[in-house]
Amino acid sequence: MDYKNLIAGSWEATTEARPNVNPSDTGDILGQAALGGTADMDRAISSAKAAAPGWAGATPQARFDVLDFIGSEILARKAELGQLLSREEGKTLPEGIGEAARAGQIFKFFAGECLRQTGDRLASVRPGVEVDVTRAPVGVVGLITPWNFPIAIPAWKIAPALAYGNAVVLKPAELTPGCAWALAEIISRSGLPEGVFNLIFGQGSVVGQHLVEHSDVDAISFTGSVPTGRGIAVSCAQSMKKVQLEMGGKNPMVVLDDADLDLAVEACLNGAFYSTGQRCTASSRLIVTEGVHDRFVAVLTAAMQGLRVGNALESGIQMGPVVDGHQLDQNLSYLQVAAQEGGKVIGGERLSLEQEGFYMAPALVTETSNEMRINQEEVFGPVASVLRARDYEEALSLANDSDFGLSAGICTTSLKRASHFKANAEAGMVMVNLPTAGVDYHVPFGGTKGSSYGAREQGSYAAEFYTRVKTAYTLP
Ligand code: ADP
Repeated sequence: MDYKNLIAGSWEATTEARPNVNPSDTGDILGQAALGGTADMDRAISSAKAAAPGWAGATPQARFDVLDFIGSEILARKAELGQLLSREEGKTLPEGIGEAARAGQIFKFFAGECLRQTGDRLASVRPGVEVDVTRAPVGVVGLITPWNFPIAIPAWKIAPALAYGNAVVLKPAELTPGCAWALAEIISRSGLPEGVFNLIFGQGSVVGQHLVEHSDVDAISFTGSVPTGRGIAVSCAQSMKKVQLEMGGKNPMVVLDDADLDLAVEACLNGAFYSTGQRCTASSRLIVTEGVHDRFVAVLTAAMQGLRVGNALESGIQMGPVVDGHQLDQNLSYLQVAAQEGGKVIGGERLSLEQEGFYMAPALVTETSNEMRINQEEVFGPVASVLRARDYEEALSLANDSDFGLSAGICTTSLKRASHFKANAEAGMVMVNLPTAGVDYHVPFGGTKGSSYGAREQGSYAAEFYTRVKTAYTLP
C-alpha cells in the first residue's frame, strides 16, 4: 500500500517513502508513506488558498452533504478502519473500532452544525442603525496531528474546519499514515471541491514547520508534545496566526477513603493502562487517602497484573504494545528514574512475546512524592504512580501541584467533596467516579496551564477557533 499526498485533488507519490510498521508485529509492514518536502507543502497551501473562497461561499446544505457523507462512510466501515488503526497504532481492536466510530460521529455532529450557524442582530446605540454579528471562516487552516488517536484527532480538527467554511492542509503524524490516508480517501470522494482538503505526509520538523511558518496559512491547530507546541506558539505569534494547542497531561485521579473501591480501581485501571496509557488524558498520578491507600494498591496491583498484554488484533487482549521502540525506551527509562528517586516499581518489564513487538507490562510506582520526575513529567505509557495523601485537602493540593491541567478525577461517594473538587481542580475537564480519559464528542475538550493554549476544541465551542467574528453596521 502506498499512502500518497493529496494536493489539489490529485494523489502524488514522493521519491522517498517511510515504512508503516505494525508495533504488535514489527515484521508486518502495512505500507509506505510519502515523505513530502517543502515544495509539496507550498503547493498544498496554494491549492487550499485557491479553493478557500468557493468553500467559504458554499451553502450550509452543500457543507452538510459533504460532512454527512464522510461520517456515514466512516461509520459503515468502522470495523475495517478500526482494524487498520489497531494494526498501525497498537491499541486493542475494540478500542480501534470505537475510535473509528467516534470519528464518524464527529463528522455527523459537525454536519448538523453546518445547519446551525447563527449570528446576532442587536439594536445600535445610534438611531436607525442595525448591527449584525456573524462568524466568517478563518481561511486556510493547517492541522498537525499526533499518532495516539490517528483517526479521531484528525476528524475533530477537519470536521469543524470544513463545517465553518475553511480550507485545510493536514500534516498527520509520521507513525500512523494509514488512518490519515484512509480518511483523506473518503474525503476525496465526498463531493468536497478539489483543493479544499489537502494532505501532506512528512517530517514534522520539515513540512510541519513549513506549514506553521507559511504566510498564506491563517491558523494552526496542533495536538502533540509540549516542546513542539511551544515552538509553534512562538512562530504563530510572529506571523500573527490564530493558534490552538493541545499538549500533555499529568492527570491526577484522587481516591478518597469513602470511595466505592471496586469502581475506583476500575476507573484507575482504565484511565492508566487502557490504550497502553498513550492518552494525554491518562490517569498518571493516583492520589489516595491514607485510610484506603494500602487496600487500593493491593487491589489495583492484582487487577493490573491480570491485564492480558499482547497483539492488538488478537481477541481478549486488554493492552496492546507501545507505539514504537523510542517510546518504549522512554517508558523504561522513566521507571529507572522513578526507582532511583526512591519509588517502588511494580511491573513494567519489557516483554518478549511470540511476535516481535514493542511490548511491556503495565507498571505502578508506589511510595512516591509529588516532586519526583515521575509525578511532574508526562511519560505517555502504561505507567501510573501512587501518592499518599492525609485527607481530601492534601489530595486536592497535590492534584493541583502540576504544570499541566488537562483532566482531573475524583472517586468519592461524598457529594460535598465532589462538588468542591469540580469547582477547585485546576483542569479543563473534571471527572467524578469516572476515568480521567474517555470523553464525549459533542462537548468542549481542552485543558488549563501547560496542557492547552487557545480556544477549546470540539462541540459547538469549536467555532471559536475555526471562525472570525465580524460586526456589520447598516443604516437602511
Ligand atoms: P510526539 O512526541 O507525540 O510525536 P510531536 O509534538 O513531536 O509529538 O509530534 C506531533 C505532531 O507534530 C506530528 O505530526 C509531528 O510530525 C509534528 N511536528 C513535530 N515537530 C514539528 C515542528 N517543529 N513543527 C511543526 N510540526 C511538528
